Amino acid sequence: MIPAAFDYHRPTKVEDVIALLEEHGDDARVMAGGHSLIPMMKLRMADIPHLIDLQDVGGLGGISIESGRIKLGAMVTQHEIINHDGLASAAPILREAALQIADPQVRYMGTIGGNVANGDPGNDMPGLMQCIDAQIELIGPGGTRSVAARDYYEAAYMTDREDDEVLISISFAAPSGGHAYEKQKRKIGDYATAAAAVQLVKDDGKVASVSIAMTNLSDVPVWSEAAGAALVGTTCDSAAIKAAVSAMLADIDPSEDNRGPVAFKRHLAGIILSRAVTRAWDRA
Ligand SMILES: Cc1cc2nc3c(=O)[nH]c(=O)nc-3n(C[C@H](O)[C@H](O)[C@H](O)COP(=O)(O)OP(=O)(O)OC[C@H]3O[C@@H](n4cnc5c(N)ncnc54)[C@H](O)[C@@H]3O)c2cc1C
Repeated sequence: MIPAAFDYHRPTKVEDVIALLEEHGDDARVMAGGHSLIPMMKLRMADIPHLIDLQDVGGLGGISIESGRIKLGAMVTQHEIINHDGLASAAPILREAALQIADPQVRYMGTIGGNVANGDPGNDMPGLMQCIDAQIELIGPGGTRSVAARDYYEAAYMTDREDDEVLISISFAAPSGGHAYEKQKRKIGDYATAAAAVQLVKDDGKVASVSIAMTNLSDVPVWSEAAGAALVGTTCDSAAIKAAVSAMLADIDPSEDNRGPVAFKRHLAGIILSRAVTRAWDRA
């Protein structure tokens, strides 16, 4: 399949990216790893007259960990996330999730910025970013601003980012306690039918705090405060996990597609969430 004709831009400065976005408006789109965008263009589901490649733009890479705060440049690839030792010990849930994305070829190119910016309900990083309460930094004609991942997603492929803004980095406090990223997919390399990100702190044999988000069970990722609240103060016994699952099921809104009917997805969401909570508790 061949995409429609487009002009290819390869700027080196973020200011030039913004200028191009302002000049061409809805006719322009930035490209990071291209592993979501290029398939859409080839399938003619996206027609983009001006493609702005971010590969040579300075200042968008790098992983930093300072005073317990982690910052990932937008162009950090999933491969880099998997292979960064400091990140693997400071925030192991990222490595666990990145290893479940697609295959090594996609992970060499696919970036954290592209995965988070895309707004595809099937992407794994948005739910995870909500679980760890990440902040998304954007730059546009008016300067930079920061948006909580929990406020960023509005609908499928619709986010808080304006057309002339570029996602430049993502930052979050190093998560504490036990973690789990559990994902059910139809086959190796597939998007999630359901996935759960859980970060859980145990104190004195009870759940002190927990954050839970799920992927591909609504048109946006779902961070459920109620699901977490159902576990706090408990010994994470089966009744507590059942209550957390019930709370999450009240928050998700899956639709039928080639990954299954609604009843199956709701059943699966419960299984995946129970597994993730149990593993996070065991590791905490
Ligand atoms: C076979 C296959 C299987 C896959 N399986 C999974 C999976 O299981 N889980 C998963 O999460 N993903 C999966 N993906 C998608 C993959 O992870 C993508 O690489 C990722 O979603 C997008 O990252 P990218 O860097 O390639 O972004 P691109 O494709 O370049 O861009 C995606 C979108 O984000 C926008 N964008 C990119 N970077 C920025 C930025 N810095 N600022 C503003 N907007 C930006 C683009 O304009 C575009 O609209 C799969 C892809 C393939 C081809």
